[in-house]
Amino acid sequence: MSNHRTVRASYLVFGQPKIEQAEIEEVLACLRSAWLGTGPKAAEFERRVAAYKGVPYAVGLNSCTAGLHLACVVLGLQPGDEVITTPMTFCATVNAIVHAGAVPVLADVDPRTMNIDPAEVRRRITPRTRALLPVHFAGRPCDMDALMAIAREHGLKVIEDCAHAIETEHRGRKAGTIGDLGVLSFYSTKNIVTGEGGMVLTRDEGLARRVKRAGLHGMSADAWKRFTDDGYKHYDVEEIGFKYNMMDLQAAIGMHQITRVEAYWRRRQEIWQRYLREFADLPLELPAPWSAHERHALHLFTVLVDPARCGASRDDMLMRLHQRNIGTGVHYRSIPNMTVYRQRFGWRPEDFPHSQRIGDQTLSLPISAKLSDDDVSDVIAAVRDAIGR
Ligand SMILES: *Cc1c(COP(=O)(O)O)cnc(C)c1O
Repeated sequence: MSNHRTVRASYLVFGQPKIEQAEIEEVLACLRSAWLGTGPKAAEFERRVAAYKGVPYAVGLNSCTAGLHLACVVLGLQPGDEVITTPMTFCATVNAIVHAGAVPVLADVDPRTMNIDPAEVRRRITPRTRALLPVHFAGRPCDMDALMAIAREHGLKVIEDCAHAIETEHRGRKAGTIGDLGVLSFYSTKNIVTGEGGMVLTRDEGLARRVKRAGLHGMSADAWKRFTDDGYKHYDVEEIGFKYNMMDLQAAIGMHQITRVEAYWRRRQEIWQRYLREFADLPLELPAPWSAHERHALHLFTVLVDPARCGASRDDMLMRLHQRNIGTGVHYRSIPNMTVYRQRFGWRPEDFPHSQRIGDQTLSLPISAKLSDDDVSDVIAAVRDAIGR
């Protein structure tokens, strides 16, 4: 079996973005214009994303992490307020809650969807619960009907972590526009990229204004246009804010990426279908199907490697693929496995058994729109070879 006949010549880096000529030229134009900071390109990118998402307000920021933090801040979370989120996420989701002074509370996931389980959310509600922070994991929509019903019943705010989910929909409603605020990521491995970057979506004009102000030092709205033809205008500082604004240099990339978001999604759908077909006979657990009322953003193609069925652990598989020049990812080891959260919040991995098992067994295969058909064939051959099939 392992005669390594399938090793490709070059290493396939996991999560590489597809960068095209239009954004390369726009970045050059931005450099030549000498206006690098927040300006017309950031505003144009915000308009294009808002139009795509069908939402009136979108505020560009330097990361999704910044957006999650600002979302907690503008919702007025106070010390001791509890925010319920998922253990199956990137640490930034939890950190944003802590940085806002609130207390993160975890609710385990549904083992099939890997999304936060509304029944678990109900079990974690206390008189101090103020908000829910669901993550549309891998791009699969959370059960927003159930989560919004819980939020209404208990008077909770809802922040959607849409880092994987720009294309996601639930019953015809776009992810990030269902709760009070939605936050996108344009980090280099996400569905569309700006290198580093993020954006907050909302239907609430007041919240949008406060995200914008808190994201630029707390300066009055005039600060955004204080150098104009009309001359200089003094600004006021109205709150103690942060430095989270998006540069035109970043938006120069994003404003073209957003025009291809659906084309990239269709390419990932082809790869997704091919993986499902080619791995159907393997002892791997493949992503569960979704229903007609859901739209999956197809951000991560995760397989579960059960050592009892595969004769290899997830880490064995990861190393075997690495030796075959295929880069993979792990999304994610369950949050309570990380030292600082155990120390600070006393969380125990075994209290979130579904996340624990997924975190131990999950492996993300490359699914970037940049992959050629040959790249995908290499991944398929390497997976089959690594598992001895
Ligand atoms: C990538 C990611 C983030 C953070 O995004 P940045 O833009 O890198 O700050 C937050 N949550 C999830 C689920 C992510 O995957």
